Amino acid sequence: MKRQSDLNAIYGILSKTYPTFENSDDPWMANGLSSTPFKSLVSAALSTMTTTARVISAAIPLYEKVDSFEELLAMDDEELRSIIKPVAHYNRKVRSLKKMCRQIVEDFDGKIPNSREELLSLNGIGEKCSRLIMNFQFGERTIAVDTHIHRLLNRLGIVKTSNTKATTREINSMTPMRFKKHAHEWLIQHGMNVCVARNPRCNECVIRSRCDYNRTTVGSCCAS
Ligand code: SF4
Repeated sequence: MKRQSDLNAIYGILSKTYPTFENSDDPWMANGLSSTPFKSLVSAALSTMTTTARVISAAIPLYEKVDSFEELLAMDDEELRSIIKPVAHYNRKVRSLKKMCRQIVEDFDGKIPNSREELLSLNGIGEKCSRLIMNFQFGERTIAVDTHIHRLLNRLGIVKTSNTKATTREINSMTPMRFKKHAHEWLIQHGMNVCVARNPRCNECVIRSRCDYNRTTVGSCCAS
């Protein structure tokens, strides 16, 4: 199937173009936002609708004060509110984080659950976050899809979907196991740096010859 051969070729090219997060100077990794299961889950919960820079501004002082779900649960609400103020919807996130911590302490013995179903049962944890945690913390071969990856895969013509949930389902079923560990990392770097929402940089795109958007919208001037 053509889409499948295109996808395999795209992974091959992107894997040679981008480093894995572990080997990059990505600010999320450089600031240790996923360095423990606790930090990984709390950072992800803080990151909804918020830039990485703002998550870092909130997370660094927070992790200087607390290092476990129990400690975060015990923290005074007002203090937590003032620390996480840089992130969007910080009032709602205070309530949400406390609820999530209580669930983990009471239902999971203070430890982050290690199945997608259990992660999804936690307050404030959705599909993308559960797959990120399963991949990065527990080594499950799964691809988390955000708006950048959803946009990229639709422009390429690999999927034709209207929401991230459908894209998640399709890309996870299409991607061969050997690419799944790092697929999210390659796709998101390309989506954020080159295939940006406004004015994608098709002229400098390493996968433009495999892209439907380039073929139909940009035209032959950019074909390699
Ligand atoms: S050619 Fe343009 S639209 Fe296609 S993937 Fe590259 S940057 Fe995105």
